[in-house]
Amino acid sequence: MSLAEVWGVVPAGISGVMVKVEVDVARGLPSVGVVGLAHTSVAEARWRARSAIVNSGFTWPNSRITIGLSPADLPKTGTSLDLPIAVGLLAATAQIDKITSDISFIGELGLDGAIKPVSGVLAAAITAQRHGITTFIVSTGNFREASEVAGLCVIAVTNMSQLVAVMRGENPGERVEPLPDAAHHANALGDFSEVRGHDVARFALEVAAAGGHHCSMLGEPGVGKTMLAQRFVSLLPELSHQQALDVTSVHALAGRIQSGHGLMRRPPFIAPHHSISAGAMLGSVRNGVLLPGALTLASEGVLFLDEAPEFDRPCLEGMRQPLEQGSLALMRVGQTVIAPARFQLILAANPCPCGQAIGRGDGCTCGAQQKRRYLQKLSGPLMDRIDIRISLTRPTDAHLRMGAGECSEVISQRVRLARDRARVRWNEESWDLNSHAPGSALRARYSPNIAGQVLLERAEAKGLNPRGSDRVLRMAWTLADLQAKDQPGKEHISTALSMRGGGFE
Ligand SMILES: [Zn+2]
Repeated sequence: MSLAEVWGVVPAGISGVMVKVEVDVARGLPSVGVVGLAHTSVAEARWRARSAIVNSGFTWPNSRITIGLSPADLPKTGTSLDLPIAVGLLAATAQIDKITSDISFIGELGLDGAIKPVSGVLAAAITAQRHGITTFIVSTGNFREASEVAGLCVIAVTNMSQLVAVMRGENPGERVEPLPDAAHHANALGDFSEVRGHDVARFALEVAAAGGHHCSMLGEPGVGKTMLAQRFVSLLPELSHQQALDVTSVHALAGRIQSGHGLMRRPPFIAPHHSISAGAMLGSVRNGVLLPGALTLASEGVLFLDEAPEFDRPCLEGMRQPLEQGSLALMRVGQTVIAPARFQLILAANPCPCGQAIGRGDGCTCGAQQKRRYLQKLSGPLMDRIDIRISLTRPTDAHLRMGAGECSEVISQRVRLARDRARVRWNEESWDLNSHAPGSALRARYSPNIAGQVLLERAEAKGLNPRGSDRVLRMAWTLADLQAKDQPGKEHISTALSMRGGGFE
């Protein structure tokens, strides 16, 4: 009779937490105790483990069994610890060899000994790999998801008998061929070739994609704001492998995609309705597990807020921290979960509550004060982060008769080249997108040419404030990158100046 240690992983927040399972088998009255703040579902794991072991033909001793879970102060929920608990018991009773600390197990047990998949395995596998685990043993149903993590040997097993055979070296375990990647095609939300007219918006969105700039669009209802925002995603580059892992694990955690269908390689597009609650917007924590909100689901992708002034103030205020830091702290009793929220914001608004105050605004029935209060909901710290602000007008009949415009593929190629130029320039800096460059650094080390500086100073003398001036500089660099110029000049500053107002100032 002895003690065995096995590493398990439970979902916590956006990743997982390594849990050390200790199983002690000692002389004494037969009993099974779980220590270490286990939630009911974990406390029940001992009974599932006992049935699974006995029904698979192995021995559950008539002894005093103590199962310890650490860290003890972390609430442990779910069924992901079933498998490490059963493995610990088998090791403590010498039915299999002691388990080395570079192996981890995750899976739910059926009473018949079946090993069933659990949710959040991708995040758990990433955590395990960072913790130094080299072999990860999962249910066959979790194999594909866990196998996405480089540097981790993943072995899939279907039941306890097979698991024991694998541990005894009698069976190599099941290998499942990877499935094709999740179908998230660039054109799923439409292509820019379908957009007629809207030259200003097309160009603004190209600039936004190239520099990672947040963008706002003002225009009457039905003018095409949503259509343009959806197509914006098609201009963005594919996610890196690390980004794809992070995005997929967040979306799997939220139950938006089925596990085992491969990685999401395209940036997500998240468009919550303005009636969304603050909880659904920001996310929440339940039993130590993060339920991602819209801000986190949009991470590494695009957050589109249509009719932005209609969102509740807590939703809009809640975006300040993500826009500054790319993450969001969610606090619950005794713990803080940091959720990723590095999204690109596309915000759309009607010009006034009735939506008609565009151009001459003849049809508008709103009072001046009502109009001001409406757009003021977006003022201040939120709008400070939005570099590009444009107004949309309804395409004319002439526009609608024009042929198809450039397709997304052509535009995204220019975006890619511009981003490459920026990445080379920012090589020594702590940011790699123009939109993340601080104004102070731009002024000190990355100023435009003389003619550009003169034009910017003239605009400042006419009342352009320092924050507005920073936004112009950031955009000017993106415009220069799109034209493969080494330094922004007068024409870039001039274009940037024209893209920064858009009815909001
Ligand atoms: Zn109005």
